[in-house]
Amino acid sequence: MTIKSNQWIICELKYLSIASSLLVISIFGDHLLSIKRTPVNSYVIALTDTLIHGMIASLSWLLVAVTKGQPIYENIILIESLLAFMTASAIDFDHVLEARSFDLKIVSQLSDRPFLHNTSLMLSISLSIIAIGLLRHNWLIHTYGWIFLTAIFTHHLRDAIRHGFWFYPFHTKPVPQWLYVLTLTSFPLICSLLMNIVAKEWLERHSINDNIKYQAMDLNLEEV
Ligand SMILES: [Zn+2]
Repeated sequence: MTIKSNQWIICELKYLSIASSLLVISIFGDHLLSIKRTPVNSYVIALTDTLIHGMIASLSWLLVAVTKGQPIYENIILIESLLAFMTASAIDFDHVLEARSFDLKIVSQLSDRPFLHNTSLMLSISLSIIAIGLLRHNWLIHTYGWIFLTAIFTHHLRDAIRHGFWFYPFHTKPVPQWLYVLTLTSFPLICSLLMNIVAKEWLERHSINDNIKYQAMDLNLEEV
């Protein structure tokens, strides 16, 4: 067996083990939301639910790194994964902002979904960050754009099991469980593929000077 095929098997095993953790956390999260809420447990459930959004985004970003062949224990990948966690967890703060209260009774009575749950708006912001990173030749901003996309997509996808997606002004039907699992586990592969296509296209279209700039930032095409 060649070294390359060994690496491929290790990569597949890593992907399978992280994807399995992702599914276990998702199932636990679903179970959590079916628990009857009382004034005592409602804050714990809301906080745990928000943390589950974070964990799913963070594991999804690790899967993106695995697909790109990056070592997931490197500091930079762990920081990126933490950023995905914080971004996905922060999205639910819009409920509090729109209700102007931390009282869960008031928060749960909002007539519309809050603005950070508008998928078309958040996708536009993600694509803008990715584009700004490219235009300013700033690979940190560019990478954050993909992290932001992973965080919002995994968060909105999980919410869509109950509420569907909100593509302003339209709402879709709730996403069936099988489609949720399929999309959640394949999204990192698609994200990684898109990242490589964008990076290759960008570097091919630009002069060698741009290549030098990227290399000066200690980032090459393998890492994009
Ligand atoms: Zn949400």
